[in-house]
Amino acid sequence: MSAETRDPNNFPSRTPDCLKCTYFKVTWDLAFPRSCGIFGIKCRNLPSVEVYKNTGCHCPSFQQKKGLK
Ligand code: SF4
Repeated sequence: MSAETRDPNNFPSRTPDCLKCTYFKVTWDLAFPRSCGIFGIKCRNLPSVEVYKNTGCHCPSFQQKKGLK
């Protein structure tokens, strides 16, 4: 768990970096090359951007990849 601040509803205060998240995957689909295993989406943008655009809340499921500092 990062030390990032969260609002009273326990959502992060900014968009998490999917590239550092264990749930982020690259797909073979050239039209939708990025995916998120938690939300089950494939997209062109980072999944966390799509989550924010569609829910108005920043992704609460970020889990930093092991080995990253
Ligand atoms: S769980 Fe959140 S931070 Fe992780 S890949 Fe999905 S949208 Fe990005």
